[in-house]
Amino acid sequence: MKKTALISGITGQDGSYLAGLLVEKGYAVHGIVRPADPIGLSNLADLLHPSKRDSVQLHHADIREKDRLRQIIQTVEPDELYHLAAQSDPGRSFECPGYTAEVVGLGTVRILEAVREIGLPTKVFHAASSAMFGRVEISPQDETTPFYPMTPYAAAKVFAYWLCVNFREAYGMFVCNGILYNHESPRRGGNFFTRKVTKAAARIRAGLQDRLSLSDLSASRDWGYAPEYVTAMWLMLQRESPDDYVVATGEMHSAEEFVEAAFAEAGLDWKHHVDVIPQSRPARAENLCGNTSKARERLGWVATTRFRDLVRIMVEADCALVAPRHEGSVTERS
Ligand code: NAP
Repeated sequence: MKKTALISGITGQDGSYLAGLLVEKGYAVHGIVRPADPIGLSNLADLLHPSKRDSVQLHHADIREKDRLRQIIQTVEPDELYHLAAQSDPGRSFECPGYTAEVVGLGTVRILEAVREIGLPTKVFHAASSAMFGRVEISPQDETTPFYPMTPYAAAKVFAYWLCVNFREAYGMFVCNGILYNHESPRRGGNFFTRKVTKAAARIRAGLQDRLSLSDLSASRDWGYAPEYVTAMWLMLQRESPDDYVVATGEMHSAEEFVEAAFAEAGLDWKHHVDVIPQSRPARAENLCGNTSKARERLGWVATTRFRDLVRIMVEADCALVAPRHEGSVTERS
């Protein structure tokens, strides 16, 4: 029988790739979208095309609306629920810690409570984050490494993570945490470091912009390709029993390496175009790198897109958005 999946955060980078994967696998896919005006559906453009009518059904709710979420879950009766909705920007979480806790922390409470109260056998995936490791003392990190969050975002994710473990143990619910390391793609929000860099490289190449200002290039991250990470989410919910998994590449690269590689892909020398202007930010996670042994052994999942390929995919996509209109002039598509 056709399985039904419900995705919170379906308009985001991961939600849109996951929706595509599940449609391909024959699921009836439902998504929760914020009742914004207009709703940002560009990541879902392919799936919402008239030729694919009814492949995805959208339901309006903010993750803060408990009753509405409950209604949606009761109507959809999902076999699998992928909870991805979040205020997902760690830097921004210092500007709105209360809102971040409300969406990331209490949003997860509302999802889990609704599934429990309705009494459905729904399998739940929660998108936890490598940011929870924050001030790292062990590298690479695995599922047993202690958390030390360095941002309100990471603190809220730690709360949501433990809540998932608690509901699993206290109520016997099927709930999995994916401890996701940074994963990027052409659908990454423009406020995130990698996309800021690839967009700027494309625009500078096209003559639309001269320079890029960045605040710090010293941090190192474990950067993977988002479409592969949503496969790991799906695999977790296909197991007999629920568990938590690190999802990462196991390779670490510095922010400076990312900038150098992105500008090189665009045929540019980053040193001629990038200004590093230190800005104070209260704190950020230290260098993060994941140990993926458990995901490899139990899910049969490994990241296959390498760092340079990820950078190339993103730069090529951003260059394609800056298309020549007529000789000597360029136009930009959003
Ligand atoms: P994203 O592109 O920022 O997408 C976030 C999604 O959440 C969007 O669909 C957004 O809707 C929705 N959302 C935000 N606030 C909401 C609210 N109040 N009510 C309902 N929906 C709301 O994030 P992503 O990169 O796909 O990440 C997916 C999940 O993985 C997030 O939970 C993130 O924290 C986690 N994660 C991501 C990474 C990464 O590197 N990408 C790493 C670790 C963990 P709008 O379109 O309306 O804004």
